Amino acid sequence: MIQESELYRKVAGACRLETTEAFRLQSRIHRLRWFGRSEIWVKRDDELSFGVSGTKLRKHASLIPALKQQGIEEVVVIGGANSNNVLSAAQTLTENNIRITPFLLGPLPQKIGNAKLLSLFVDDCEIQWISRSRWADCEVLANDYAENRRSQGIKIFVLPEGAHHPLALPGSLSLLVDILRNERESGVRFDHIFIDAGTGMIAQSLLAGAVALERKTIFHVVVLAGSFDEFQAGLSKVMQYTREFFDVSLGQVPDYYMYYPATAKSFGSTNKAVFEEIKRIAREDGVLTDPVYSVKMFLTARQTILDKKLEGNILLIHSGGGLALSGFMDHPMFSV
Ligand SMILES: *Cc1c(COP(=O)(O)O)cnc(C)c1O
Repeated sequence: MIQESELYRKVAGACRLETTEAFRLQSRIHRLRWFGRSEIWVKRDDELSFGVSGTKLRKHASLIPALKQQGIEEVVVIGGANSNNVLSAAQTLTENNIRITPFLLGPLPQKIGNAKLLSLFVDDCEIQWISRSRWADCEVLANDYAENRRSQGIKIFVLPEGAHHPLALPGSLSLLVDILRNERESGVRFDHIFIDAGTGMIAQSLLAGAVALERKTIFHVVVLAGSFDEFQAGLSKVMQYTREFFDVSLGQVPDYYMYYPATAKSFGSTNKAVFEEIKRIAREDGVLTDPVYSVKMFLTARQTILDKKLEGNILLIHSGGGLALSGFMDHPMFSV
């Protein structure tokens, strides 16, 4: 077990929080007025940045200082053509004068949304397009490329999909640090926390941090990409990163539940219900959500709170991703 003060100290150190140019990792919480209740809250990680998807800012907050310390000049970033992590990395790396070489699944027939925004940062000829049939070997191809660049004397780093990497752990753990701050400041202690998962890095870090603190909260993870098994395999990895980071042994994982989204189950898919919910959340809650991640988490949380008759203080993490909405505004099912 570790103390809260140690968690804070180590996260602050890895994210260089005391420096002027550090990413700001504090977001507020506010109530949602769902079901006439007053104890359902949302954490606005979407407000961490306009351009960088909320929780990505947390991952990059420890990743970037580590890359700079190693003198890295180029980073291979792996992901889908519409990946929030790739679009975020294009910003955080370029800002820090590190060249980004995207290895992307594609090319897409039509560049809209994130893929189009990405072309503001990188020229098409700098992108390595990997076809679906070769996608399983993407990491191998990226490592081959990196090896070749290394032989030319370039300091290069390969960032796995979704920044699922030990260097992103301290930044990912900043979410727990900040929830603890929200609790202290509001006097509310959360009994249930809902979070979405793509690669799972952020949700797994939250769980691993809770184990390290021996914090008892019930976590509800909406698994949007991959399977429950893949989430659990990722969790084992992140538990190991966490043991190494704090140099402690960890106890049992707290209670957590996994859900596939209540609708549009395959990753990135949308339907009428998804767009209806985006509109409902905008009109009733005043919150912008995106069709890939946050709206499916909101929708699944609403359904679960009712189905399971969840009591007590409930927190939903709004992980950001609003820019992705730009690719869907002209979608035929998105009628407003
Ligand atoms: C990337 C992303 C996630 C998922 O994060 P993982 O750490 O890959 O699970 C969730 N929501 C938004 C908005 C994202 O951009």
